[in-house]
Amino acid sequence: MSAILPGATIGILGGGQLGRMVAMAARSLGYRIQVMDPDPSCPARFVVDACFEGGWDDARAAADLARGCDVVTLEIEQISIASLEAAAKFAPVRPSAELLHVIQNRIRQKDWLRERGFPLGAWHAARSAQDLEDAVAQLGGRCFVKSAHGGYDGRSQVKIGFGDDTTAGDAWILLGRQPCVVEKALDLDREISVMVARSPCGETRSFPSATNHHERQILAWSVIPSLISAEVETRAQKLACEIADSFTLEGLLAVEMFLTADGDLLVNELAPRPHNSYHASERACVTSQFEQDVRAVCDLPLGDVSVVQPAAIANLLGDLWLDHPPHFDRALAVPGVRVHLYEKHQPRQGRKMGHLSAVGHTPEEAVERVLEAEALL
Ligand code: ADP
Ligand code: MG
Repeated sequence: MSAILPGATIGILGGGQLGRMVAMAARSLGYRIQVMDPDPSCPARFVVDACFEGGWDDARAAADLARGCDVVTLEIEQISIASLEAAAKFAPVRPSAELLHVIQNRIRQKDWLRERGFPLGAWHAARSAQDLEDAVAQLGGRCFVKSAHGGYDGRSQVKIGFGDDTTAGDAWILLGRQPCVVEKALDLDREISVMVARSPCGETRSFPSATNHHERQILAWSVIPSLISAEVETRAQKLACEIADSFTLEGLLAVEMFLTADGDLLVNELAPRPHNSYHASERACVTSQFEQDVRAVCDLPLGDVSVVQPAAIANLLGDLWLDHPPHFDRALAVPGVRVHLYEKHQPRQGRKMGHLSAVGHTPEEAVERVLEAEALL
């Protein structure tokens, strides 16, 4: 297998902020980039050579994208298998349709992990209202119910037992009467993630873990290196690399993990693409997740992932725009802070519009600075 060198064209299925930031890293390396997205003015639009309009299940648009590409990758896991196969007729698709097939359904993903002995919290699949009711009864107490298909940033999820009187029957209807997973709500010490890159020639590198703080099931802030012990870090690294190897991954795989109050390290979910919790890698690590993605899918040598300085990010949701445009000038006065915006023209509640990043002498200081800057907006 030979490397796909700068000057070649990379196709990205999806043109959101993740595709945009991969495209920017790819441009710096001298690649040409085209994306496919349902929205012709998607965030990647402004930094790519061509944008093909097409939905996640538009196999013809995926083929049109791939026709002019040397390799195709993706920034969202919900691309249909038919689209991935259509693209694969013209260029290698990395990660593969097989891996996507496992990951894009929460039931299949959890079954895959369980069959291979990877640690998960207690859960049940539910394919009917009765299943869901039985699952909630068996798990007892508080539960998260999540649609098997689709869903991100806590969407397509219903919580049961959190103070309101939502029942299993309500959850079944709210989620559209579709197959779902029912998870026991875990008592969390922390949430962490590990990003692994693997290239077609088999080289693998995993970034130091990120510690992630969620609010209302959306990532609020994230920091690298992580606020965990060396012992947990070693366990997390081993877990993430074993999962990537079991898939013979080509590209990136983010492994979201729960560290429970009892000290168990469990897999939450997998994402075969750049991940929000690694945006800080642009400033914390020698190589960012975006450049690493390009290197991995082009079968180039993978970059050094060591930490050069602690860095944190805080997400900027559309809510911040509701009263007045954010005071970015004030945030930028905080030492070590940068503003990253995705050129989304319509702020909406819960929509990720951009993020702030901050470096610090310690991870704690990086978090403090990024939150201080956010408060000034
Ligand atoms: P998404 O695809 O929206 O990221 P996740 O399954 O990662 O969905 O859930 C989002 C967040 O909700 C998690 O990062 C965590 O903070 C919380 N959460 C989800 N499932 C559980 C659970 N079983 N126990 C405790 N917290 C959970
Ligand atoms: Mg998640």
